[in-house]
Amino acid sequence: MNHFDVIVVGGGSVGLTTACALGAQGVRVAVVEPRPIAAAPVAAGHNPRVFAITRASQQIFTALGIWDAILAGGAYPFRDMRVWDAGGDGAIHFDCADIGEPYLGHMIEPQVIQAALQQRAQSLAAITLFCPARVTEIDVTREPVTATLDDGSGLSADLVVGADGVHSPLRERLEIGTRTHDYRQGSLVARVLTEQDHQATAWQRFLPGGPLAFLPTADGWCSIVWTLPAETAQQMLNADKPAFHEALGVAFDFRLGKITDSGPREVFPLQRLHAEHYVEERVALAGDAAHAIHPLAGQGINLGLLDAAVLAEVVLTARERQKNIGSLHVLRRYERWRRGDNQLMMTAMDGFNRLFGNTQPALRQVRNLGLSLMDAVSPAKALLVRHAMGLAGDLPALARRDTTSPYTE
Ligand SMILES: Cc1cc2nc3c(=O)[nH]c(=O)nc-3n(C[C@H](O)[C@H](O)[C@H](O)COP(=O)(O)OP(=O)(O)OC[C@H]3O[C@@H](n4cnc5c(N)ncnc54)[C@H](O)[C@@H]3O)c2cc1C
Repeated sequence: MNHFDVIVVGGGSVGLTTACALGAQGVRVAVVEPRPIAAAPVAAGHNPRVFAITRASQQIFTALGIWDAILAGGAYPFRDMRVWDAGGDGAIHFDCADIGEPYLGHMIEPQVIQAALQQRAQSLAAITLFCPARVTEIDVTREPVTATLDDGSGLSADLVVGADGVHSPLRERLEIGTRTHDYRQGSLVARVLTEQDHQATAWQRFLPGGPLAFLPTADGWCSIVWTLPAETAQQMLNADKPAFHEALGVAFDFRLGKITDSGPREVFPLQRLHAEHYVEERVALAGDAAHAIHPLAGQGINLGLLDAAVLAEVVLTARERQKNIGSLHVLRRYERWRRGDNQLMMTAMDGFNRLFGNTQPALRQVRNLGLSLMDAVSPAKALLVRHAMGLAGDLPALARRDTTSPYTE
């Protein structure tokens, strides 16, 4: 039986960020991940999906020492965001200059983040990667937690972290309940080329069937996230290129001219999920395993990275005070810190999705007025954008831009 302080189940971005934040401070971590590590990660410019990464997430990556590797792998800063309603003339424009910042965030392909985190985890002596491997048995009822992997390895630890994604086999195995809602929508993602330059701007048009985002990337292409009723998403997935380009151009009101080329398409079915609790004695859930939200504001991974940073801070503080890192008392601090914020974001995304999906003329008028009002009131707009960038709120040390962070190199 190999003993660790923490077992992290799931080596995606949230699991590896948790592991690196702990491992960098000497906490012994085992990471169990079924997907093998790619020998050579796919270069940027090929993935149909990009993540809009906030300044808080950037700060977490900087503190972990991987931001330069991410920049080298491909990260594109965007300066503006334009949001408008297809059902009226309400619009809002966010400009990084309004809040005295050089950019609003970065567009980064998932595999670029994954490769930088894997490299960092492999370089830390305190981290052992069990990959590819899966947990076949786990017992959290006694101290320490014990786990058996499908390669026959036996592990024990004081705490197990479930960061194994929205379908979390660990959450299921431990019978932690969830509240779920099927949006009956799918998000179609693809890389597309437009007639006109994207102007380093993230564009989003709200349509009755769901929002359509054009996210700018370094090579001049855009990565689209087109949320549609589930059936229409499948039709668009299977449409031939000319029909797809025309339908997409119309949906986007030809804001950047015609669509002239596109790459492979993928559809992600959308659901909202919130675990009934994030922690139990010796167990913590993080990232999509704890909460999955509508992608309309591109916040999912950013929330998960904040979970990872808070969980690491709570565990490190407990360890420093020689407390049991798996005790419910310690772990509840993590849940109290993160659950409310995640719930708030979830409720806001739901509200937007419902508000803009409604075609009632009176409501349409009110929301258009609301958008225009918000655009005109600078302090309200600045507050909104600071929250969306992750520059406001109760941030953990890893995500703060100050010198008191224990991680500042
Ligand atoms: C269309 C779309 C667009 C999005 N755009 C954005 C965006 O712009 N910005 C943003 O912030 N978020 C975005 N998101 C959300 C984002 O994709 C997720 O929130 C994020 O990937 C969750 O990370 P995670 O590490 O928690 O889970 P995952 O990335 O799902 O990682 C889970 C890991 O667990 C592993 N695993 C699975 N089963 C097991 C097992 N049995 N044992 C061990 N490990 C296991 C998996 O292999 C995987 O590596 C988007 C989502 C969608 C659907």
